[in-house]
Amino acid sequence: MTDQAKRRGVMLVFCAPSGAGKTTITRQILEKDSQISLSVSATTRAARPGEEEGIHYFFKSVDAFKHMIADDELLEWAEVFGNYYGTPSCPVEKALSEGHDVLFDIDWQGARQIREKGGDDVVSVFILPPSSAELERRLRDRGQDADDVIMKRMAKAGAEISHWEEFDYVLINDDLERCLADVQHIIGAERVKRERQSQLPGFVKKLLTD
Ligand code: 5GP
Repeated sequence: MTDQAKRRGVMLVFCAPSGAGKTTITRQILEKDSQISLSVSATTRAARPGEEEGIHYFFKSVDAFKHMIADDELLEWAEVFGNYYGTPSCPVEKALSEGHDVLFDIDWQGARQIREKGGDDVVSVFILPPSSAELERRLRDRGQDADDVIMKRMAKAGAEISHWEEFDYVLINDDLERCLADVQHIIGAERVKRERQSQLPGFVKKLLTD
């Protein structure tokens, strides 16, 4: 086992209202950092154009999703915008045990459940849009959802934002590059926290006796 594999994996929870730029930041972090894998959620919502089964989501019927809940297959789950979303436990456990960090792109309800279960392994980041006007513009620019869906999401954004104080780190995404750099700094610092480096006692012992 390498020293890196001995490190405890970090559970990185990213939350934000839709349109705050969370998906872009998540995608870039995953591209730039091979130590992090994304937790692919299960959902009952329909796939959007370009979304692929097993990459963006595992698309489930309501019945199949309810079976996953009953069989205790989900680390957390919540109803968001009238659809069910949840995190399958097995892939997360596998990644963490292999020394990989796992990134969760989930809502505040899921973040709360993961915080309760993951304890000190969890690092949570909340991403805020710079203004409500910019938030609405970003939601419209996607061009994938109908007006009533956008209005529903704008209304939900306020509710999501009201949970900002539950998070370890809060970033305002007024500059994508800076926000991305801040996220990378957070991840870098969290990785070298003393309690995450389980190889340290052995390393220091060797350092002092060699
Ligand atoms: P979207 O439908 O736009 O992909 O996601 C809608 C919301 O559901 C987003 O806030 C997203 O973070 C959240 N979400 C996605 N997957 C999960 C999950 O597994 N659990 C929870 N609790 N929320 C999720």
